[in-house]
Amino acid sequence: MSDVRPVHDSLKDPGVLGVGFPPVRRNHLLDSLPPSAFDVLAPHLVQTTHAKDSVLQSPGRPIQRVYFPYTGLIALVTGLEEGRFLDTVAVGREGAVGLSAGMGAQTAYSMAVVRFPVTGAEISAARFAEIAARSKPLRDLSTRYADALLAQVQQRLVCNTVHPVQERICGWLLHAHDRVAADPLAVTQEALAEALGVQRTTVTMNCRTLQSQGIIHVRRGRISIRNLAALERTACSCYRIERQLTNAVNRSAAA
Ligand SMILES: [Zn+2]
Repeated sequence: MSDVRPVHDSLKDPGVLGVGFPPVRRNHLLDSLPPSAFDVLAPHLVQTTHAKDSVLQSPGRPIQRVYFPYTGLIALVTGLEEGRFLDTVAVGREGAVGLSAGMGAQTAYSMAVVRFPVTGAEISAARFAEIAARSKPLRDLSTRYADALLAQVQQRLVCNTVHPVQERICGWLLHAHDRVAADPLAVTQEALAEALGVQRTTVTMNCRTLQSQGIIHVRRGRISIRNLAALERTACSCYRIERQLTNAVNRSAAA
């Protein structure tokens, strides 16, 4: 599932991180830490890759690792009784998975699934908790991120309830576009329907409309964005709000 290598003791050196990997876009949370806090954490981070569909944490199970993606997208998904799972929050280089370990949390509340292959840094949750117990910047970061995640989940709840599927499709594609350095995006309409909790035929119909408007192009399990500005105009306001939430965490951590 994973390719693991130690991270150089300075993630600030892009030359080291670039070796053997696709163009590295480092993690914004790590980048926003004060140097003194980052330097304590860095020797314990390892650089890893995780394939599509890897499950990084499961609800009710111990948080084993804290993940800081550089590229790719991890979805926090919520299960329904009938065995379906809906994407609630998209996590990429602006965020992390398992960060609540820094506040003493030991159990995961949601499943984390890799939607687009992830390259990033990670650390054992137990070690992260130990370090955070002695580091106010890390504890503050964990708290702010937990608040932002809760706000995003609330936003998604509202979005799933009131916003049209077409606007939600556009938002989902924008979240993926922001985090995945690839075009076209490797995503089937079945996967998109599952992530949004709607019928495959509904996704097909809406994708056809977006394609006829020159906004996207769909072909053989891949979706290409043809008009990014139009995609942003068509997406519901939730996309912009969610982006502001994560940006605010990054800015406050750097302050
Ligand atoms: Zn929405």
